[in-house]
Amino acid sequence: MSGEVNGRKTKIVATVGPASWDVTILKQLILSGVNVFRVNAAHNSIEDREKIVKSIRDAVDSTGHHVGILQDLAGVKPRTGPLPDGEQIRLRRDASVRLVAGEAMLTEEELTIDEAEVVERLRPGQRVLMADGLLELVVHEADGTSARCQVIRGGYLRGRQGVTVPGAPVDQRILSEDECRDIRFAAEADLEYLGMSFVTKAADVELVRAELQKYGGRCKIIAKIERAEALENIDAIAQAADALMVARGDLGVQLPPEDVPLAQKRIIQIGHRRGRPVITATQMLESMIYQPIPTRAETSDVANAVLDGTDAVMLSAETATGDYPLEAVAMMDRVVSAIERGLPPHREPDTEEPTTIASTIARAAFDITQRSSLVNVIGVLTRSGFSAREVARERPEVPIIAMTNDPFIANQLALVWGVESIVAEYASGTEALMKQISDELVRIGEARHGDHALIVGSLVYHNEPGHTDALHLRRIG
Ligand code: PGA
Ligand code: MN
Repeated sequence: MSGEVNGRKTKIVATVGPASWDVTILKQLILSGVNVFRVNAAHNSIEDREKIVKSIRDAVDSTGHHVGILQDLAGVKPRTGPLPDGEQIRLRRDASVRLVAGEAMLTEEELTIDEAEVVERLRPGQRVLMADGLLELVVHEADGTSARCQVIRGGYLRGRQGVTVPGAPVDQRILSEDECRDIRFAAEADLEYLGMSFVTKAADVELVRAELQKYGGRCKIIAKIERAEALENIDAIAQAADALMVARGDLGVQLPPEDVPLAQKRIIQIGHRRGRPVITATQMLESMIYQPIPTRAETSDVANAVLDGTDAVMLSAETATGDYPLEAVAMMDRVVSAIERGLPPHREPDTEEPTTIASTIARAAFDITQRSSLVNVIGVLTRSGFSAREVARERPEVPIIAMTNDPFIANQLALVWGVESIVAEYASGTEALMKQISDELVRIGEARHGDHALIVGSLVYHNEPGHTDALHLRRIG
């Protein structure tokens, strides 16, 4: 059973939506290269999500691949009031519009915002961005109940579009009732990942972790970096979270768009240093929502994320609502594979010296693969996935094959750069285990008799996840 398609090391996350939640399409998406499916809690009810998760699991089972599921929590994102389906209003440049709190239909003179606090806090001089920054207003007068604004960048506005006031202070984060319900769902459905939107500091992540623990959830928490404050606290957030997402959609509204590329590189670098997988997300193949081929700039963007060292690249509307979900995944797979064939994996030049037993063993394994042409593959015995992540962090060129006794861990590792998983009941005794993983490497075609494999794992502390204590160089057969 292979969780990896055609040896590609950088993983693909695809968002599920009306364009893709049919089991047959999900199955084709997996065969085209999806490693993790994302379900966005902002866009569907628990009842719908139960069905989507079941469809994903059915599709995954029919392929035999290891695929993870990520549920994103909706988070607090103020939105405009509604408009009838398919209708939009036009805001002309320099026009004067009033912002008020409420749910009334939008008009060209008055725009409602669903969160009263946003309107209460507006101050003259502030900018208000709508629809991911497509439209921009500036506040001229504000009295706490309404604000008179001038349109700086006009355009068409649909209903229920996101509203952002860059630089506005953020409240102490609490979890909404909806978020608590969605966390419970993720725990009870035993999803592999839970994404937290609009994180600003490490304590936000702790809130989700505490809630998750109430229900015994095993999901790893992905902190979505999409606010300027999160970048200031990125190191502490990376320590508190299990993985990071460069959420370029919202980040590019909060920050000037030209600041996003360097932020992306920095987030990837810090995730790497802390051993946290990083997903690079949003607009990667945006034009493929409507067209079967991407722009050259988009293929370059995917390529550059790989060159930055991201663990995974993500598709959003391309696979959720677009016209070409399968083509988008296939294109991403092609671009990533071409880059990986053309250049060795990206390694951080300033990677810190390892300071733990696990990271020392992982570094040693990497060094051996670099200095000797004897080793064709690294096999990792991993109960929790920890040893596999430590090895992957070193970015070896040879395949990393994780053998775990828990299918959940295999699905969770589907997000991690370079890791392919095998699920098997562990044999008992050190030699039996070593022989078992060697046999498995042969069975899946990653090694032949006479090849050499490095085996990394926890043997002495075999029953305690999180320990790596063995490095064994073995001739297969
Ligand atoms: P979203 O997050 O798609 O849930 O908004 C990603 C982003 O903001 O880029
Ligand atoms: Mn976002």
